[in-house]
Amino acid sequence: MRQTILTGDRPTGPLHLGHYVGSLRQRVELQALHDQTVLVADLQGLTDNGHNPAKISENILNVVADYLAVGIDPAKTTLCLQSALPALSELTLYYLNLVTVSRLERNPTVKSEIAQKGFERSLPAGFLTYPVSQAADITAFSANLVPVGDDQLPMIEQTNEIVRAFNRIVGTPVLTECQAMLGKVSRLPGIDGQAKMSKSLGNGITLGAPADEVQAAVMKMYTDPNHLRVNDPGQVEGNVVFSYLDAFCADEARVSELKAHYQRGGLGDVVLKRLLNDELQTLLEPIRARRAAYLADKGELVRVLQQGTDRARVVTGDLVARVRRALGLALL
Ligand code: ATP
Ligand code: MG
Repeated sequence: MRQTILTGDRPTGPLHLGHYVGSLRQRVELQALHDQTVLVADLQGLTDNGHNPAKISENILNVVADYLAVGIDPAKTTLCLQSALPALSELTLYYLNLVTVSRLERNPTVKSEIAQKGFERSLPAGFLTYPVSQAADITAFSANLVPVGDDQLPMIEQTNEIVRAFNRIVGTPVLTECQAMLGKVSRLPGIDGQAKMSKSLGNGITLGAPADEVQAAVMKMYTDPNHLRVNDPGQVEGNVVFSYLDAFCADEARVSELKAHYQRGGLGDVVLKRLLNDELQTLLEPIRARRAAYLADKGELVRVLQQGTDRARVVTGDLVARVRRALGLALL
């Protein structure tokens, strides 16, 4: 059955391998079968970069180039810009009244991000409430399927709470509930072994990284700190190199053999890292070349974003008009 899909990324930096396995790869497959919209979430990017708007504006076209470079096709997927869709902001304001501050504070992803960023008393109100703006994004397109990494599951749960509360209050099903869709690798760790590769943590490999940078990152990867001599038995769990081989090496039987060998002892980290480097270079080389070609014509990237955003403006405008009517606010 044809589904309506909404996903997006914050333009807080160029996209990385975590995005590739966590969602970009699925989007390329899904666009052939479903109605897919991908949102460049610049407003959400500003929630923790309010004092540095250039960081967000400078990365919008980088992200669009990343999309096109991995094979997202603007003829099949609507690519749009959050700040150019006023319906999303209006919906956010309606929904904010249906969510308590304590509920927002309980969102586990937001909670850990607040701790990571060390906000304490300087927590921007927009950051605490960004799950509500995400609910506005999803519902504005009446999306029922949202392909995401697992850090986003609490956002989907919160979106559905808002949907149910709104529909109950107005007495008609204006908003659509949605379901998360997790990829095979729903959380790629950072090269430092941290829980998640993330633009903000600087522990990633970007899709446009030059070959020598990719190699240096692989050689630096966190492995098993107790695997000191080649003949020592090594540990596979928590070993970033194996997480990446699982994510990027299509030959699963080969990875299983390597794991068994590593656990027995006799397989060195450097051999494994060379293997992973080869896999990543093969994957990234064509993406890097296409990305650079797209970025050489920024006018075309703007045109692609403009066309998708114009289409999205109609869809989101219709939905917010229905919301206004349901609230009895369509007086003027
Ligand atoms: P930031 O650090 O600015 O929040 P980010 O790297 O977390 O950036 P987002 O734009 O917040 O990237 O996330 C976009 C999408 O990519 C989300 O669906 C998220 O779950 C997914 N994603 C991000 N990082 C990873 C990862 N390491 N593994 C799997 N999915 C990921
Ligand atoms: Mg994030």
